[in-house]
Amino acid sequence: MSHAVPGLAKAVEEIADEMRQRPDRGDVASYIPELARVDANSFGLAVVSADGSVTAAGDSDTSFSIQSISKVFTLTLALGLVGDRLWRRVGREPSGSPFNSIVQLEHERGIPRNPFINAGAIAVTDAILSGHQPREALGEILRFMQFLAHDSSIAIDESVAASEKRTGFRNIALANYMKSFGVLDNPVDYTLGVYFHHCAIAMSCRQLAMAGQFLAHSGRNPATGLSVVSAERAKRINAVMLTCGHYDGSGEFAYRVGLPGKSGVGGGILAIAPGKASIAVWSPGLDKSGNSHLGRLALESLTKRMGWSIFGA
Ligand code: GLU
Repeated sequence: MSHAVPGLAKAVEEIADEMRQRPDRGDVASYIPELARVDANSFGLAVVSADGSVTAAGDSDTSFSIQSISKVFTLTLALGLVGDRLWRRVGREPSGSPFNSIVQLEHERGIPRNPFINAGAIAVTDAILSGHQPREALGEILRFMQFLAHDSSIAIDESVAASEKRTGFRNIALANYMKSFGVLDNPVDYTLGVYFHHCAIAMSCRQLAMAGQFLAHSGRNPATGLSVVSAERAKRINAVMLTCGHYDGSGEFAYRVGLPGKSGVGGGILAIAPGKASIAVWSPGLDKSGNSHLGRLALESLTKRMGWSIFGA
């Protein structure tokens, strides 16, 4: 028996209706050619409440490319594998730079600012890969997503992975640059292969919101009682999401939405309302920082209506 959160179903329905009709939809990412094929009018929203019940509207069961949202889960896995030693090869400060910036890396001798910019996520992927074959490491990541979402149908979109590999010149440059400083342990090709493929995992809003539950509830899935990480680790991952989850739009996201969140260039955002809900939204059009334009507006409206900003009000 689920206990509906007062006002949530109405809010989710009304926000989805409003977003579906808005003319300002942002621009769909085209630098990965396969991503440009998506329907810019799509909009999905799913909220998993503390009792595990899902409130969803719009295209909430349509799979999309989660892209950089996967970085939350690879960070979680890497911290589980190597613990705080991970912070020797990647920082945890906001970058104030675009997601694929190369300038900062030179200043900081190959140590990326945080695990959510591309360079940082590539360094995290390298940590997961060590001691494994690329296929095994990728299998670990995918199985982790399936376990968290409680859904073994979650898969990698091979055409998106291939498309990114063909056009990933900048990520290849970032990885080689880090390799020159000794920040990557594995062959650059292997690390990038795993990185491109985990970014190409396809999930729906419903699946993604399910997967994020442990971050909303001190490291545990409250519906199953299963613990994924310690409360301390969940708190820290949320902190990095709040400060670094939206590239150089992170300040604006905190200001307007007030929740830890992570966006991807596929137009998805995973947002965490601690103690209350795990939320996933998807609208493929991006703003100039590369974050979902309507996704952010929808979350702003939802947190305002539900009083869910971590900063109150
Ligand atoms: N796979 C994308 C890239 O490396 C991720 C970028 C994003 O989602 O922000 O360019």
